[in-house]
Amino acid sequence: MVQEEYPKWTWETGRLSYILLRMETLERDILLDQIRELEEAARPLEPGADHRELLRDAVIGSSERFLRGIDTLKAFEETAGRGIGLLDLPISERGVQIEAAVDLLEREVIRPGANPASAGHLAYIPGGAIYHSALGDYLAAVTNKYPAIFFNGPGPVRMENLLIRWVAGLVGYPATAGGNIASGGSIATLTAITTARDAHGLKGADYASAVVYLTSQAHHCVEKALHIAGLGEVQVRRIPIDERFRMIPEALEAAIAADRAQGLKPWLIAATAGTTDTGAVDPLDAIATIAERERCWLHVDAAYGGFFLLTEHGRSLLKGIERSDSAVLDPHKSLFLPWGSGIVLVRDATRLAATHGASGHYLQDTLQDTLRDTLREPGEISPADVSPELTKPFRALRMWLPLVLLGTKPFQAALDEKLLLARYFHREVQGLGFEVGPPPDLSIATFRWAPPGVSRERANRLNQEIVDALRRDGRIFLSSTLLDGRFTLRMAALAFRTHRRTIDLALRLLREQVANLAG
Ligand SMILES: *Cc1c(COP(=O)(O)O)cnc(C)c1O
Repeated sequence: MVQEEYPKWTWETGRLSYILLRMETLERDILLDQIRELEEAARPLEPGADHRELLRDAVIGSSERFLRGIDTLKAFEETAGRGIGLLDLPISERGVQIEAAVDLLEREVIRPGANPASAGHLAYIPGGAIYHSALGDYLAAVTNKYPAIFFNGPGPVRMENLLIRWVAGLVGYPATAGGNIASGGSIATLTAITTARDAHGLKGADYASAVVYLTSQAHHCVEKALHIAGLGEVQVRRIPIDERFRMIPEALEAAIAADRAQGLKPWLIAATAGTTDTGAVDPLDAIATIAERERCWLHVDAAYGGFFLLTEHGRSLLKGIERSDSAVLDPHKSLFLPWGSGIVLVRDATRLAATHGASGHYLQDTLQDTLRDTLREPGEISPADVSPELTKPFRALRMWLPLVLLGTKPFQAALDEKLLLARYFHREVQGLGFEVGPPPDLSIATFRWAPPGVSRERANRLNQEIVDALRRDGRIFLSSTLLDGRFTLRMAALAFRTHRRTIDLALRLLREQVANLAG
């Protein structure tokens, strides 16, 4: 019997299961007492104004310590435990004081490893995270406005669409374009690839004969997206690149012709505007001409290079991007936002909606505001209708706030500065005796230590030693890659805090390294 399986209920044991089981016969007062007790026990979830101030002071204090010390913080911090101390505080029934939590966070989470907020972060593709975005995130989280459906969050949806229109305008897309603020370039790419699949009506039986064209320098997220989208069987052609790591349009033409002759179906050309390794920009205009003639979907991966469209140099270098069918730009790279923002644009928004539109009965109140209605009269597309996501963070605010507070000028200046810093570095590092890669298209320079008479294997080892030594020192952080099988160092100037003095520090440290190697 129930009474025997569950011990007699008391206020001390407070067995809720007892109440739930006895609900039919339970006295109303006992029920109300228990509800009151639980409300009391849950009260810490809503700190009062004084307590909020205490929490805020601790968090703001920590962020101020970080920002005021940012010039002296390392770009890479090798610690013995690599954050293992975090595990000493397991999640348990009772919480700890904010000071203890912040202390642990600073020591075990913020300190170890790379510091992408640092000026010296010249590895991979940095961005930096501007402060205005952090405040936008804070407001977005406190108010928790719903950004996915116009009916529920007209303001956040208008804001996201306003930003999408602004970025589409930068790219040069027509008013038919649509898009979405996703979590990053990879998800944005997945969104574009699935849209391209459906736009060309590819079904399972077509996959093995559909062909994708890209270069060895394309980001691996394209192939990852193909795989996730169920397109693992498509033919992937690696189009040859020139000495500046750019796709050769004539080679693309030849590959398409050869595939047609074989009865295959050229489908997707994935060009890159700013490759991750070297910052190379494929000749988009020439590629667009081929894509149009061959009726291929042209996707441009501008995850890194996209916001250089704010600069005159970027606009001329990326010319042709306006002729593409889809594009990806990462605000968390060349717009300096914190991680977690990637934009996908599609020239024809109805294509995006055709792939991503879906609904459930429980959303019926919102349907009056879905794309179907807004297409009939100009209005706002709900992000959920053009994205794999339904609920998502209110990402638009972290992008909107800095743009409206600062205007675009400082962004343009920072990007122009990075273009020049990369050229300055490219010139000076040669003077130190390094072999350099091609002149930078954007803000990445490649180089390696390869004195005459040193074998390729030995040169690879020496460059590995240089990158390891610099990381252990930590004042700057460089990463490496393989280009034509050669271990190559990269200097990516993109973090907004990276200025001339950081580049000079990098050059000085590199000079010391090669002096060590010589000695
Ligand atoms: C960073 C990058 C990506 C992937 O973007 P995430 O935001 O890291 O997912 C794709 N393409 C290029 C060229 C990139 O630099």
